[in-house]
Amino acid sequence: MQDYDVIIIGSGMGGLVCGNLLMKEGFKVCILEKNRQIGGCLQTYVRDRVIFDSGVHYLGGLEKGQNLYQIFKYVDILDKLRLQKMEEDVFDKILFEGDDKEYVYAQGYDNFINKLLIDFPEEEEALHVYCDKIKEVCSKFPLYNLRSGGDEHEKADVLTIDTKGFIDSITANPVLREVLAGNNPLYAGMPDKTPLYVHALIINSYIESSYKCIDGGSQIAKYLSRNILNMGGAIIRNCEVKKIIVEGGKASAVELADGSRMFASHFISNVHPVRTLEMTDTDLIKKVYRNRLKGLENTIGCFTLNIVFKKDSFKYCKHNYYVYNEGCVWKTDVYTEEDWPLGYAAFFGASSKSPDYAEGMTILAYMKYEEVRQWEHIHNTVSHVEDRGEEYEAFKKQKAEILLDYIERKFPGIREHIKAYYTATPLSYRDYIGTEDGSLYGIAKDYKDSLKTFISPRTKLPNLFFTGQNLNLHGVLGAAMSAIVTANALMGNDDIINKIRNA
Ligand SMILES: Cc1cc2nc3c(=O)[nH]c(=O)nc-3n(C[C@H](O)[C@H](O)[C@H](O)COP(=O)(O)OP(=O)(O)OC[C@H]3O[C@@H](n4cnc5c(N)ncnc54)[C@H](O)[C@@H]3O)c2cc1C
Repeated sequence: MQDYDVIIIGSGMGGLVCGNLLMKEGFKVCILEKNRQIGGCLQTYVRDRVIFDSGVHYLGGLEKGQNLYQIFKYVDILDKLRLQKMEEDVFDKILFEGDDKEYVYAQGYDNFINKLLIDFPEEEEALHVYCDKIKEVCSKFPLYNLRSGGDEHEKADVLTIDTKGFIDSITANPVLREVLAGNNPLYAGMPDKTPLYVHALIINSYIESSYKCIDGGSQIAKYLSRNILNMGGAIIRNCEVKKIIVEGGKASAVELADGSRMFASHFISNVHPVRTLEMTDTDLIKKVYRNRLKGLENTIGCFTLNIVFKKDSFKYCKHNYYVYNEGCVWKTDVYTEEDWPLGYAAFFGASSKSPDYAEGMTILAYMKYEEVRQWEHIHNTVSHVEDRGEEYEAFKKQKAEILLDYIERKFPGIREHIKAYYTATPLSYRDYIGTEDGSLYGIAKDYKDSLKTFISPRTKLPNLFFTGQNLNLHGVLGAAMSAIVTANALMGNDDIINKIRNA
């Protein structure tokens, strides 16, 4: 007996958007989420009455007619979201130790070029070459431009371009090279690895328009899930899938933590593909394919410092900061215990209660999983609390203080404004969000092996599909696009794209 047409494992951005798209096509969908809170990286949490985001610090492509705007409009959440446009003339500031200048990224391509020309007056040609290339690369991705009937070969020639190699090729100015790669924590950029298309699809969306969610990004999950329920679908929380059962050459059911089974015609996994395959015990999925996926590198994780400010104490600003040691934009992940951190990203939370003063700020600094591996056997989630002990708490405290000393160099006196701070490590991300090894964005794309790291939504089982950040691209926009790819694969056509474009 089929309980549902489609069971989706995981309620991250990919799972929720897939659920919306398929319900709108008449499929009866059920989403199973292991956590109490839905949304995966869309989750927020409250400390000292201040809302902090797990993984939605800002969004691109939300201006009328742009890609995320159209997707949100089609799934009918656009008008409900409380959004705040970031500063037109600066959405990101790139700062370096030993350099007092603040290099800015502005919204709109002409504005972007003009603002950088103030600091790099000799580099007009390089800036034009850069922007033209970004736009050209983006134009090769039909779905990104909400074009149906795309030809897969269209983008073949841009998949193999190296981000750092390209940036270094357009200018000999060492500072501009660093500035143009300055928000690479957004995609955990790696030299000689990160393809230009990843950089381009992401930076383009923010140059086109940059927004923050007021009071956090969990509202995206809230409205997407409400739609599913309103259309007659189901979302079951605290419901961990342990196994995908295969019978007669296809997936027939999922087995839950309590041993019960749920049946459906189709299954979509929003969980990391390697984990998904580990749950799927069948010879139909060959060892060589499993090993190929297992062999792919995940992006690095991070240490998070969430600062709660004293009331009306620290001015709120509508832009983010990316701060680095000199020459370290591409090297922040190769730190040692002595020189950590080599850079960080800082995001202010937009609050409806306090528009002028920041209630909270989130600082992210790369952290390798090895640093917390000794505590990996201890799991800690909202519904299952295990204590990692005093040594772990001391480790976090030490890291937070080191990071604060570093932050203070660019934000002198910031400590005086702090009421309290809270920390998270790659283990927190592993446990709360379910990302593999606490990895920030899942599988790292590689320009040298572009097809290998471009994961298909299809598996060897005709009715089991992947979705989410590990497919085409990560990020809220990337995971939403992956959901469209998955829905297309399940339905066998790409009609949804036209519907989104014309929404
Ligand atoms: C620190 C950080 C900052 C970020 N900042 C931004 C940003 O500013 N802007 C932006 O656009 N993107 C940002 N991102 C990226 C973005 O949030 C993610 O790429 C995207 O939300 C991932 O969506 P997903 O569909 O892959 O699902 P995920 O968020 O990975 O969710 C997967 C879901 O599956 C559930 N699950 C796992 N296993 C099981 C199981 N066995 N049974 C049932 N459920 C299960 C998990 O609990 C989770 O809810 C950030 C990410 C991080 C980590």
